[in-house]
Amino acid sequence: MIGVLALQGGYEAHARAIARAGGEACEVRTAEELQAVDGLIIPGGESTTMLKLLDRENLFEPLRAFGNAKPVFGTCAGAILLAREVSNPKQNSLGLVDIAVERNAYGRQLDSRVTSIEGENLGAMEAVFIRAPIIRRAGAGVKVIASYNGDPVLVEQGRHLVATFHPELSSDNLVHKYFLDKVAAQ
Ligand code: GLN
Repeated sequence: MIGVLALQGGYEAHARAIARAGGEACEVRTAEELQAVDGLIIPGGESTTMLKLLDRENLFEPLRAFGNAKPVFGTCAGAILLAREVSNPKQNSLGLVDIAVERNAYGRQLDSRVTSIEGENLGAMEAVFIRAPIIRRAGAGVKVIASYNGDPVLVEQGRHLVATFHPELSSDNLVHKYFLDKVAAQ
């Protein structure tokens, strides 16, 4: 069972994408619900708001502990929450993946677009960027699966997966299938 963190942002589309990819998804809002899932998706939205809600619901530490044992897939704001380091502005994060991200880094004019990217062993996929962060540094343990304009946009480190775009808005479901495989391999 895949949990989708459902405090804020695009969680419903992730649950539908997991179903299209052949998996089962449920919404997670409490530490008890988190205990019941095999992998977790942190959706896009507004990372600052999500951080506040994680704090209010006392979910920050349970999430970090979950990530120390089970796979987490963060997209866009979720990628920002998973990163080790966040800039523009600096903010707290779970630090589960050794990347440094800069928020809203594509600037005003290019801030939302749909493009095609090539994933290693995944082939061509559609990538929808919405006020996306840029991964400015990826540590030695981080594997880049796909890049756009020379910057990594889909990376993994061990059991965790990070996308700076929104794979839940694409019809190909490739990235969600990939995450389901990672969870099954645990
Ligand atoms: N700009 C948002 C942030 O910095 C992320 C945007 C998104 O998730 N689509 O948190």
